[in-house]
Amino acid sequence: MNPGLLVVVSGPAGVGKGTIVRKMMENDPKFVYSISATSRLPRATETEGRNYYFKTREQFEEMIKNEELIEWVEYCGNYYGTPRSLVCSEIEKGNVVILEIEVDGALNVKRMFPDCILCFIIPPDFSELEKRLRGRGTDTEESITKRLSRAKEEFKLIKEYDYLILNDSIENAAQRFFSIVQAEQMRTNRNKELINKFENI
Ligand code: 5GP
Repeated sequence: MNPGLLVVVSGPAGVGKGTIVRKMMENDPKFVYSISATSRLPRATETEGRNYYFKTREQFEEMIKNEELIEWVEYCGNYYGTPRSLVCSEIEKGNVVILEIEVDGALNVKRMFPDCILCFIIPPDFSELEKRLRGRGTDTEESITKRLSRAKEEFKLIKEYDYLILNDSIENAAQRFFSIVQAEQMRTNRNKELINKFENI
């Protein structure tokens, strides 16, 4: 009773998406993280093929042309996109594929894969978000300003999402996230084969 699932996680920069998702991955090997491609420069803590596939703008545009991405956007001046190769094969294997992407990409994915679930992570309040974003010390002041104003835009689309996950602590948020995935995997419409088995006894 563990059908493959596509789970999209969004939320403003600094809300803790990455930490929550990493916690989920530690819990269960069935969770597979889709590594995005980006034209953004790596942060000091990031490595190629672990956080992102880092590309030049030209390389990224070549990927778009070759239809290697299931969705892509330009966000705060950089390209970001989800490679096609991993998503479908991992869902078929019965794994839970996690896309950590911003709202425009998330809504595009929902149009392409209506069965996917969209989760939006919210901070306890906006000032907390600003504090976290400055506290992580990885972004320039210009980037922080852009990301905070983008966060306000993203909040306007929360109602398009299936679930809200409050990040008051990483443990609580990961637990909420895990419960959502478990409940979704138990939905009757995701377990047609199992239902068939019982219907035909
Ligand atoms: P960051 O530069 O902080 O790593 O990411 C900026 C934003 O881009 C985040 O909201 C992140 O979730 C989003 N993002 C990362 N990868 C992708 C992707 O493949 N597609 C889309 N649409 N957004 C992405």
